[in-house]
Amino acid sequence: MGSKERYHWLAQNVKVSGVDDMVLLSKINEDAITENLKKRYMDDYIFTYIGPVLISVNPFKQLPYFTDREVELYQGAAQYENPPHIYALADNMYRNMMIDNENQCVIISGESGAGKTVAAKFIMSYVSKVSGGGDKVQHVKDIILQSNPLLEAFGNAKTVRNNNSSRFGKYFEIQFSRGGAPDGGKISNFLLEKTRVVSQNPGERSFHIYYQVLVCVCVCIYIYMYMYIYIYIYIYIYMLGLSEAMSVVGLSVEEQDSVLQLVAGILHLGNISFREENNYAVVESQDFLAFPAFLLGVPQDGLCSKLTSRMMDSKWGGTTESIAVTLSTEQACFSRDALSKALYTRLFDFLVDVTIQKDQEEFNIGVLDIYGFEIFQRNGFEQFCINFVNEKLQQIFIELTLKAEQDEYVQEGIQWTPIEYFNNKVVCDLIESKLNPLGLMSVLDDVCATMHAKGEGADQTLLQKLQGQIGSHEHFSSWNKGFIIHHYAGKVSYDVSGFCERNRDVLFNDIIELMQSSEFLVQTLMKCTPHYIRCIKPNETKRPRDWEDNRARHQVEYLGLRENIRVRRAGYAYRRAFNKFLQRYAILTKETWPRWKGKERQGVLHLLNSVHMDQDQFQLGKTKVFIKAPESLFLLEEMRERK
Ligand code: ATP
Ligand code: MG
Repeated sequence: MGSKERYHWLAQNVKVSGVDDMVLLSKINEDAITENLKKRYMDDYIFTYIGPVLISVNPFKQLPYFTDREVELYQGAAQYENPPHIYALADNMYRNMMIDNENQCVIISGESGAGKTVAAKFIMSYVSKVSGGGDKVQHVKDIILQSNPLLEAFGNAKTVRNNNSSRFGKYFEIQFSRGGAPDGGKISNFLLEKTRVVSQNPGERSFHIYYQVLVCVCVCIYIYMYMYIYIYIYIYIYMLGLSEAMSVVGLSVEEQDSVLQLVAGILHLGNISFREENNYAVVESQDFLAFPAFLLGVPQDGLCSKLTSRMMDSKWGGTTESIAVTLSTEQACFSRDALSKALYTRLFDFLVDVTIQKDQEEFNIGVLDIYGFEIFQRNGFEQFCINFVNEKLQQIFIELTLKAEQDEYVQEGIQWTPIEYFNNKVVCDLIESKLNPLGLMSVLDDVCATMHAKGEGADQTLLQKLQGQIGSHEHFSSWNKGFIIHHYAGKVSYDVSGFCERNRDVLFNDIIELMQSSEFLVQTLMKCTPHYIRCIKPNETKRPRDWEDNRARHQVEYLGLRENIRVRRAGYAYRRAFNKFLQRYAILTKETWPRWKGKERQGVLHLLNSVHMDQDQFQLGKTKVFIKAPESLFLLEEMRERK
């Protein structure tokens, strides 16, 4: 779109509402920030900047500015030219990758229902629209876009906070050729909330796919009475979307059948109940055993003995023998649920294992979308895990923006007045520390490894140990049934019952994986140029135009937006290593073109003086140039384009 056309479009479509970039707010406090976001939200502007950070408020309604017209408008445009938009951030990532030859990633955070997954989808669809074409590229794009509905069907569920809540975390990487066309991709998922397969909190549901299969089965049975042929028509129509998604990610028709059969099998596994006979569990009714056994493709008696007994090694004289030990009803229920969870997790991992192979890695754009911070009336082990991941993510944000930004000024010898902020590392340590004092996870691990007591007994021991070992920590307190952690996003009271059992369960492996992956994550994220989207949920009613001031202010507070603005305002919007800066703007003076012969620092100074940049707009550090306002940089860019 030409600049004249752009100007007309903007004049007709955009009115001024609050400030676009909160760096420009006249007062920087939580009230002013909340008020600005509210004003814009009520005018249907859900996006606002703090420098390069995008704040996005969930509108709970479809807004008209996500069409091809906007894709065109934001393509190649500088941030200040158009109103704030997620497309501007996506475009910036894509262009940075192409110009600077650096990997990019976006970290999307915010509480459950704040709009993270929707934001991730906007990024993927934008990148897919503006990047190259061709058959292979189109195939990769199809996979990127179609993997969403598939993952949502199997990994999302209705919770009280969000009707389409992600119950797993994912890091999605789109890989590009040197020419900028997507030619590969991969998805990493972590910590699927597998207990949802067998139990849900009141008012919540299991994964979407269950209901899709269930409706399908019910309708089939009903229609079967009338006309057989309709079964196939119905299955075909109902599953059409999902089936298409499965085909695109490369599953054959047979594999698709097996996937759905397995889901139905897991569903029916849940119907098997047990009664006690001579202190041992027996299956209540054989009728409920036949169908899941058939669907899972295992013999009925084999399934029965797996559920009601366990093989144990026993030593007789010098030899070891395996013997079957019969289980109590409680143990049988536990093993039925463990089987369901394990099957579902494997199935999910199989589906998520979308890797579009490419010969060699060039550049990529990564999108991190996890489950949001959540507080329910009763918070158990799952909420503890989810909130811990969010705590880590906040830590990454702090490390990479507030801390790194200020550390860099010190390192480079830039004059600077430090800004105070809350560093949540102290809360992360409280949970994960492996050294003295031990963190909560280590105490939990310890109790599980040494305690043979089951259920309540082990949980109570855990609580006592926690009180003894970390009871005096400023972010920890306890109550009679559990403990309270003062997270960065608020106090959460956890009910300790079930912690030990769940920790011992397969889920624990996930936590170890998660701990490893969170380090790996941090490392992956540190290697790319990070971008941030901070999502805000304006109300609990999920209704449009409903603004709850206290809720919004609370999020503004814990997301650290005030500190973010202050650091940004006092700091420098742009920084570049001398050599990269010289490379990019060499064309602006004849002494620097095609290359500057003297010291790089002198070259940068010469360049900035030649274009008459104000002295108070920049500082030269030891290895980098720092430029204060983005507008000064845009001027340089414009001059460069005119050459
Ligand atoms: P969770 O942590 O539970 O996964 P989330 O932050 O991913 O939550 P989303 O699923 O992205 O939340 O958003 C919740 C709902 O809010 C969406 O299903 C959609 O109805 C609505 N929503 C979010 N963002 C937008 C938007 N930009 N435009 C319209 N509706 C939106
Ligand atoms: Mg989500």
